[in-house]
Amino acid sequence: MALDYQSLAVKSVQALSPYQPGKPIEELARELGLNPGEIIKLASNENPLGPSEVALAAARKALEESCLYPDGNGFELKQALSKRFGVPMSQITLGNGSNDLLEVVARCFVGPDSEVIFSQYAFAVYPLVTQAIGAKSVSVPAKEWGHDLDAMSAAVNERTKLIFVANPNNPTGTVHDAVALEAFLERIPERVLVVLDEAYCEYLTGDEFPDGIRLLNRFPNLIVCRTFSKAWGLAALRVGYSISSPEIADILNRVRQPFNVNSVALAAASAVLEDEAYLNRSREVNKAGLRQLSEGFDRIGLPYIPSVGNFVAVDVGEQAADVYQALLSHGVIVRPVAGYGMPRHLRVSVGLPEENERFLVALSKALQSVGQGS
Ligand code: PMP
Repeated sequence: MALDYQSLAVKSVQALSPYQPGKPIEELARELGLNPGEIIKLASNENPLGPSEVALAAARKALEESCLYPDGNGFELKQALSKRFGVPMSQITLGNGSNDLLEVVARCFVGPDSEVIFSQYAFAVYPLVTQAIGAKSVSVPAKEWGHDLDAMSAAVNERTKLIFVANPNNPTGTVHDAVALEAFLERIPERVLVVLDEAYCEYLTGDEFPDGIRLLNRFPNLIVCRTFSKAWGLAALRVGYSISSPEIADILNRVRQPFNVNSVALAAASAVLEDEAYLNRSREVNKAGLRQLSEGFDRIGLPYIPSVGNFVAVDVGEQAADVYQALLSHGVIVRPVAGYGMPRHLRVSVGLPEENERFLVALSKALQSVGQGS
């Protein structure tokens, strides 16, 4: 009899369901016999502009040295981040995507007897990293699709070790302002760490941006996580960073893999930080795309959750799974979010104007095909 390896896995891992990523273009092309060039993917909150030319040039150059290990301390990138944000390099930890850091933080500070708090409808990786450790997930009911920060602080008890706050949140696109965040942080005991996940923060500018880095001096239990995957357009290279107190950074550095960020990613990320024009274009395309999508939903008569991210969750009704399938048959990949407890919604990432338009046309047809269209 073959050995049952399922039963050999630690209990907490046996109960895990893997993270469901957006469907890759090549996979749909194979399934439908389509040309990959005919398919658009608006499913993983990627940057529709394609990578920055400045980043690409640096990445190509770094590729020439692929036989060498990367700089395990990421000196150049940390220096560039340090300059940009005015924080010492000792406060920065690099990750293989910010996802890596979410996991490293949990592994450093959370044990099987701990509780971890996050919001209902928050990013799916929070319960995953919590459960993998065997800790207790405390999912706090959302308020108007966003985090109920009062209820989250009220959920803290003596076992609470960590709180994840996604600001802006994925998949709902909701955000809290600096006043609400500060009031929340003031209520959290210093022994409880707070990860402020700002994966989408670059899409917010000016006064509307509740910059977590500015709060670090006041709240030593804060860890701000950011990424190069979204507005900076480097999702495939997997590079993110956290900014925290030097003491916390020192702990994270003990547990992260020695070469967790590869040299191509390090070079591209360092270079793209100089490409302010690319960042500005990302913001402009996103702002216009959010408007285009919301106007389109208004025209069709679909409710949606107003978003500040590079995606929108739209309520397509009870047959959302069928609408998703119908969109696939039109060569449009979006993201079902039933797994987040949002069975009526689909999340669509902001694309280029022509992609958004193609999605909206396909959506009208998909709704008609499931008998929901007007
Ligand atoms: N946090 C949030 C809220 C996200 O939506 C994502 C990506 N989907 C991540 C973190 C992780 O991004 P990455 O690992 O690419 O940096």
